[in-house]
Amino acid sequence: MHSLPEQAIDIAIIGGGQAGLSVAYFLRNTPHTFVILDAEQSSGGAWLHGWNSLRLFSPANWSSLSGWQMPPVEDEYPTRTHVVDYLSRYEARYQFPIERPVVINAVERGENCLRLVSAEKIWRAKAVVSATGTWRHPFIPTYANAHLFSGTQLHSAHYGNADNFVGKKVIVMGGGNSGAQLLAEVSKVADCIWVTPHEPVFLPDDVDGRVLFARATERWKAHKEGRVIDQPVGGLGDIVMVPSVVEARARGVLKTVRPFASFTPTGVMWNDGSETTVDAVIWCTGFRPAVQHLHSLGIINSEGKIDVNETRAIQEPRLWLVGYGEWTGLASATIVGVSRSARATAEEIDEFLKTS
Ligand code: FAD
Repeated sequence: MHSLPEQAIDIAIIGGGQAGLSVAYFLRNTPHTFVILDAEQSSGGAWLHGWNSLRLFSPANWSSLSGWQMPPVEDEYPTRTHVVDYLSRYEARYQFPIERPVVINAVERGENCLRLVSAEKIWRAKAVVSATGTWRHPFIPTYANAHLFSGTQLHSAHYGNADNFVGKKVIVMGGGNSGAQLLAEVSKVADCIWVTPHEPVFLPDDVDGRVLFARATERWKAHKEGRVIDQPVGGLGDIVMVPSVVEARARGVLKTVRPFASFTPTGVMWNDGSETTVDAVIWCTGFRPAVQHLHSLGIINSEGKIDVNETRAIQEPRLWLVGYGEWTGLASATIVGVSRSARATAEEIDEFLKTS
């Protein structure tokens, strides 16, 4: 039994990043009480942890939550700190009730409620939105003998800048935007090998987040209307030619090789048996949904996700999931894209609470 203080609330939002704030924006005009419980020390969600040089891949007016536009910046693409500042001012503007730092360790079924358990307190909520993103669950694929490698291994989630790699031999793993951008940066100070499972897809230079969002919207409309549309190749995971990647292309470093067979104590062994000594491997291999707190509900599927109808958990009618990726709404893991599923979620919860 828990002997922690308990508080009853209509709606609890777990996670105070852009997805949690977006749901709060649409809930604030409903009669229901709500609270945002966020594990960070301050505003900004995962943007607090991005690497120092990280910039958005679309301009400010294409990177805003509902209600208040991100202020414009001089350079076309806002910096990570600009996003943190925007999210911080956004939550202050709407005076959202946020408690920080609060880590929800488990969500349990209670009587007519879900119980959110932290180390200090329990919230009993009639409806729960999980908006915990992916940053707390970095993914590293399994490679033979990885445990033998004595060099540095770092996931992009924990990369700050290239200072630790000056003059080193570095493998950058992964063919998405993180891989391309870190390769571009680290290759200025280190000898890099870029390893990707297949040849990466580089988008045309004039395609940035704007075009990708417009395509996602077209797909969403077509899906709603039951149409099939023919779109050019290019999804949110393909490489956007941001200035740093264009510059790396001009330097001739955007060359990839296919994965090695195994690690060795001092580096890697390739499929032909040859070996390369390396000092460090940077894993730009993505993330999985950070839903460890939902294990206690027994609803996590074999892919580490939760089966949903739009954003509502099929096996737990008091739970909604917002912002994780395409499986919880097209483009919902982006700032501009999350509003659509956040709005629909707030409307559904309002309806649920009014009728239950
Ligand atoms: P997060 O920002 O991760 O917020 C989740 C919050 O939940 C965090 O504050 C976390 O501390 C908290 N939390 C987690 N677990 C718990 C728990 N158990 N209890 C309490 N709190 C918890 N998007 C764009 O729109 N444009 C871009 O240009 C762009 N570039 C990107 C570049 C990179 C390299 C990456 C990785 C992502 C990029 N994105 C971009 C994607 C997206 O905007 C971010 O991933 C975004 O942070 C997701 O927001 P979120 O609110 O869903 O999750």
